[in-house]
Amino acid sequence: MSTDIEHVIIVGSGPAAHTAAVYAARAELSPLLFEGFMAGGVAAGGQLTTTTEVENYPGFPEGIMGPELMDQMRKQSVRLGTRIKTETVDSIDMSQRPFVVRSGSSEYRAESVIIATGATAKRLGLPGEEDYWQRGMSACAVCDGALPIFRDKPLVVIGGGDSACEEASYLAKFGSSVTMLVRRDELRASKAMQKRVFDNEKISIMWNTNATEVLGDGKLLTQVKVRNNKSGEEQVLDAGGLFYAIGHTPNTAFLNGQVETDETGYIITHGKSTATNVPGVFAAGDVQDRTYRQAVTAAGSGCMAALEAEKFLAESE
Ligand code: FAD
Ligand code: NDP
Repeated sequence: MSTDIEHVIIVGSGPAAHTAAVYAARAELSPLLFEGFMAGGVAAGGQLTTTTEVENYPGFPEGIMGPELMDQMRKQSVRLGTRIKTETVDSIDMSQRPFVVRSGSSEYRAESVIIATGATAKRLGLPGEEDYWQRGMSACAVCDGALPIFRDKPLVVIGGGDSACEEASYLAKFGSSVTMLVRRDELRASKAMQKRVFDNEKISIMWNTNATEVLGDGKLLTQVKVRNNKSGEEQVLDAGGLFYAIGHTPNTAFLNGQVETDETGYIITHGKSTATNVPGVFAAGDVQDRTYRQAVTAAGSGCMAALEAEKFLAESE
């Protein structure tokens, strides 16, 4: 075990982690950041490394490629004094302070920890999915829906929750039509979101329907095969875009239940802060945000977490 006791260890490498690192470094806390090594199947840099152009992160009037944005954030963290380890944190012992952070056979100690490990959109693993992911397929309509490839095309959304309804409503602005594939005969979404869908004449719903395969022309997705799970009837739908909205999995399993989460695993933060139920442990970004899940909101909460960690450390001296 390292004999040093860190002021703050940051776990994660998306916008939340790097914004926390920038603030913590400027506060002279000399943060140690674990960026992960393909943690949860995502490269260091987080979800934005899996996308192309990001048009809604302020400061880039022409847009910026997701991987480049994360590269710039990482450089900024390093320039200001963040030390980065390309390791995945396996567990954290929060039973006493300093906390013990374990990665492989190494152990590190820290007076405070910021959890910024993000969330992973669930995927279905359909035949053809690997070929057409980000080539007409996405799990984030708000991120990708405005791209030119989706303009005036028939679009398909899978899911029946609030996200699916929100995504269908958003996509209706760009596509020629939107078809929602709902696996039951009712929506899970709130009544208000349901109304938005029912009132939109560009949106139709195929009930009791599952997608079974995605098809394309080798470059882009062009069709989705579907099956009615009651009648067994199969159809092939023309589709310029397919959007999954079947929920996210927050990356909190490695915390082994020490931090309070909701029933789906999102960390519960207290009031308007990033404080968790464990004093000295803060959570930022998608791992604690089931509603907005955007780069800029992740960055904002990363800033909050660093400021709150700094205050915590000052008060516990
Ligand atoms: P993440 O970006 O999820 O990063 C968390 C990182 O922590 C990951 O790299 C993960 O591997 C790592 N990690 C996980 N567990 C561990 C561990 N135990 N140890 C070490 N590291 C770990 N938002 C926008 O605002 N605009 C967009 O255009 C946009 N486009 C998107 C396109 C796609 C395809 C996707 C999937 C999302 C998009 N988003 C967009 C959403 C945005 O990417 C997220 O809101 C944002 O990245 C969340 O940041 P985060 O810092 O919370 O975590
Ligand atoms: P939910 O878990 O609420 O909904 C997931 C949807 O996907 C359900 O309809 C579910 O079907 C369906 N689904 C899950 N797995 C599959 C599968 N394998 N095949 C086909 N369909 C599947 O997730 P959301 O992301 O929609 O919402 C998460 C939370 O965020 C909720 O609390 C929601 O209220 C909130 N939210 C609120 C918003 C708002 O108020 N504006 C916007 C977005 C999210 P089934 O119903 O059969 O289980």
